[in-house]
Amino acid sequence: MSTATAEIQIHQQVKTFVGAPRKILIGGRWIAAASGKTFPTYNPATGEVLAQVAEGGKADVARAVAAARKAFDGGPWRKLTPSERGRLIWKLADLIEAHLEEFAQLESLDNGKPVVVARVADVPLAVDLFRYMAGWATKIEGNTIPISVPYTPGAQYLAYTLREPVGVVAQVIPWNFPLLMAAWKLGPALAAGCTVVLKPAEQTPLSALRLGELICEAGFPDGVVNIVPGYGETAGAALAAHPDVDKVAFTGSTEVGKFILAAAAGNLKKVSLELGGKSPNIVCTDADLESSIPGVASAIFFNHGQCCCAGSRLFVEKSIFDKVVEGVAGEAKKIKVGPGMDPATQMGPLVSDEQQRRVLGYLESGLSDGAKAVVGGRKLGDKGYFVEPTVLVNTTQKMTIMQEEIFGPVVCAVPFTDLDEVLTAANDSIYGLAAAVWTRDIGKAHRIAAELRAGSVWINCYNIFDAALPFGGYKQSGWGREMGHDVLELYTEVKAVTVRL
Ligand code: ADP
Repeated sequence: MSTATAEIQIHQQVKTFVGAPRKILIGGRWIAAASGKTFPTYNPATGEVLAQVAEGGKADVARAVAAARKAFDGGPWRKLTPSERGRLIWKLADLIEAHLEEFAQLESLDNGKPVVVARVADVPLAVDLFRYMAGWATKIEGNTIPISVPYTPGAQYLAYTLREPVGVVAQVIPWNFPLLMAAWKLGPALAAGCTVVLKPAEQTPLSALRLGELICEAGFPDGVVNIVPGYGETAGAALAAHPDVDKVAFTGSTEVGKFILAAAAGNLKKVSLELGGKSPNIVCTDADLESSIPGVASAIFFNHGQCCCAGSRLFVEKSIFDKVVEGVAGEAKKIKVGPGMDPATQMGPLVSDEQQRRVLGYLESGLSDGAKAVVGGRKLGDKGYFVEPTVLVNTTQKMTIMQEEIFGPVVCAVPFTDLDEVLTAANDSIYGLAAAVWTRDIGKAHRIAAELRAGSVWINCYNIFDAALPFGGYKQSGWGREMGHDVLELYTEVKAVTVRL
């Protein structure tokens, strides 16, 4: 593994943004927390404080929900035409694009990811998502339904459905793709005509707060989007439990997803969850190894393994096991690890000291259970939250590292001999978010895709995302789908209207 060094100049706008304490967006105004408290957000490459942010708590959540309620129930937002709503969303996309470099740098500084990756992936994907959803604002339709009603013989009816916004939506998002997760959540909610209270993760609140400024600039009416930075146990929990919230959408760990669900029970608000994964990545002997080896490496090492869909369980057909493992280990060794703001960096630090401790804890547990590191296995450097890209072998299905989500740059490689065996092993998980297969046999590829219990299956590729493709999990990986037109179901209610003619 080589380390990178020379960092780029910080954009003037970014310096200004992190230089002043950031506030909470409620009803179109930026305000301090009711408690007056702030919390620090850190630069994970150095461990130093990057910015101070208002610490939203229960009182701030209550004010934000009241503002969202008012904007939904009585404000100008509901009177906008779908076309006007769509144009506002499109304008927001244009503004993000105009500030691409600033967002890429904020993501890199706050989250640790390479600025070069944020420039080509995180920010353009967020722009694209808003544009895709802007188009949907004018296409959310009901049906006309021929009905029979056997107990009113001879009567005639016109029956139709309306798709209406679900109402006030609470959205709680994670730190791995801070801007993109905000886009995935806000885009469909706004297209459907909902109002929102968004809580970014405490580790990475900055890009969502900058997005809030652009939402105001785009001209969304006050209170349509409110942004409350703060901790999960306080602000997040208060949002999930709030009786005036009609729906909560959450992305994060399965453990917290269960808390959200329990908190939502009070007023039976609608719940959608995008949770953890332990995704199987299957390489068959007939795969094109020239593309599969780098593909398999990128499946786990992209975003430092901090992806809910990371290909963290690598199943390789026995006859090519050593070759593939050696190839993936070779890819790991080539990765330039360093601060995200260095343009040569391919892998930055993990997001926080807590995350670094968590990943190192899993490594320790795996190695003491008998796994062997072909490459990596340790922390890297004495500053920042770096962990070596790691390939583990001698892993068995029962080990904690094969069962639990590590959320770091660690892949467990396992040999297999036949397809039934690998399908059973691949599906032997509480999760079902994503999976992949690498083979040149088209029949085999589709058979495997059909048998895998996962919301996304990639064939001869990995981590291919598009605003038009639904994403979400089977089993304990979640409820509902993000993106595509499927997501609109999460943000709309169906009303059946019947007219006697
Ligand atoms: P991770 O474990 O990867 O940090 P989490 O699931 O803890 O992910 O966090 C994802 C989001 O959920 C963050 O915005 C966090 O603040 C929030 N969160 C954490 N705990 C709770 C909770 N008890 N109730 C509501 N939100 C929470």
